[in-house]
Amino acid sequence: MRSVLVLGGTGEARRLADLLTVRPDLRVVSSLAGRVREPRLPAGEVRVGGFGGPEGLAHWLRAERIDAVVDATHPFARTMTESAVRAAADAAIPLLVLRRPGWAAGPGDNWHWADSLAEAAGLLPSLGSRVFLTTGRKELAPFADLDLWFLSRSVDPPEAPLPRRLEVVLGRGPFTLDGELALLRQHRIDVLVTKDSGGSMTSAKLGAARDLGLPVLLLRRPPLPPGVATAPTPEAAAAWLRPGNGGG
Ligand code: NAP
Repeated sequence: MRSVLVLGGTGEARRLADLLTVRPDLRVVSSLAGRVREPRLPAGEVRVGGFGGPEGLAHWLRAERIDAVVDATHPFARTMTESAVRAAADAAIPLLVLRRPGWAAGPGDNWHWADSLAEAAGLLPSLGSRVFLTTGRKELAPFADLDLWFLSRSVDPPEAPLPRRLEVVLGRGPFTLDGELALLRQHRIDVLVTKDSGGSMTSAKLGAARDLGLPVLLLRRPPLPPGVATAPTPEAAAAWLRPGNGGG
């Protein structure tokens, strides 16, 4: 039996665990960072918490006799991905990054791009004054000094430093177009800020912004480490783990 580590914290990681845990040829361990108070747990064996950097992860991979790693973390979990790439190389086992495609603008979209939260904060006052901020609860600090009104949404309450004029709504996708339209209208939002997370769980806000003619400020994804193998879907990642393929 081969052992696989799935680095998780996403819907795709849970879907992959569903696909892999039914296979008799595999032992599957899913790993969560432990950031969310009540996480949605993947099927099968789960461990929680950091590994202690790339060295800690390489040590863990050897101790658990792991044969392959699938990094199915969020596209913005850059540190974990870089750590996984280094640790898998160190332990001399194959690694695949499962990365859902980013979002693409369509007719009627008014999208602006930033490479960092700081750049987004610099651009924001030129785009609107009542902001719907969905970049994550640990990432409000760069916006804290702006004299704008913010509606922030995250799974758990956001962490200080926070903007002075802030209302918080807690929520976890999937979100609907009707729900997002109602939220934007209720709070008279005139600009949306989001990471380019991709996927359908949180994309309804983009359709709502388009319908209301609002600008959207998107954070560009961090680049993947050079040369890593990638798959766009859990199904493709599961195929990579078939005997004779890259991770099988
Ligand atoms: P990050 O900045 O890339 O990682 C920071 C540290 O957290 C890592 O070095 C690692 O600690 C630990 N860690 C991260 N993911 C882990 C995992 N799946 N299992 C065990 N340890 C993990 O990560 P992040 O952006 O804070 O994201 C944390 C988790 O939330 C990830 O699982 C990610 O998939 C999920 N998530 C992130 C976002 C986002 O916008 N960033 C959105 C939705 C979900 P050690 O160095 O000690 O190993």
